[in-house]
Order: sequence, then C-alpha cells, then structure tokens
Amino acid sequence: MAALDDVLPLLRCPVCGAELERDGGVVRCAAAHSFDVARHGYLSLVAGGRRAPPGDTADMLAARERFLDAGHFQPLATALDHRETAGSLASKFGSAVQHVNALADAVLDVINRPIAVAAE
Ligand SMILES: [Zn+2]
Repeated sequence: MAALDDVLPLLRCPVCGAELERDGGVVRCAAAHSFDVARHGYLSLVAGGRRAPPGDTADMLAARERFLDAGHFQPLATALDHRETAGSLASKFGSAVQHVNALADAVLDVINRPIAVAAE
C-alpha cells in the first residue's frame, strides 16, 4: 500500500485543482483549502459538509461542448455511415457476408484508431 506522501504529488485539491502539500496532520493547497489526515493515515478529499452542485456546472457544459466540437465521435459516426452503405449493398446482392464484413471493418477502424488526449 502506498504511503500518503508517495501519492500526494498525484492528487489535486478538489476545490480549486491546485497541487497539495502535507503539513503534519493536514494537507492543503496554495489557496489554503485544507484536509485533515485521519489518525490512521488516510486522507479524505471530500470537502467537509459542502454539497456537490446539482447537475452540470457551466464548466462541465463548456468542456462537453469542446469535446464534441473536437470531433472525437466522428469515427463512430463514419462507421455507422459505412454500416448503412454495407446494408444496402448486402440487400442489393443478397449477401449477408458482405454486410458483416463491411461492418466488422468499420468497427475495427474505430477500435484501432489511437486515442489522443489533449492536455490543457
Ligand atoms: Zn484548493
């Protein structure tokens, strides 16, 4: 089991996103959001008594819009277009095998496409 000090560099303040530093029995960020280290050595980053905002925040909506506008779902849409084309070919030629092969190729195209994550 990793010690708190080992994983602390990987954690961020749940309130403001800043890095966290340990100060004895307290972990805090530069903006002075602080979280007590439990007696048994674990740390809960749940903000005390504060409730999560209901529904999506404006930031979440903006992030979703950026993600959708970036075209990450385009390969899936393209694959679905291919499936429709393959389906009409199959009915024209009466061959279910062609339909299945084209669909499999389209799905493989999507699966094999590398996933890029943009860091802001
Ligand atoms: Zn903070």
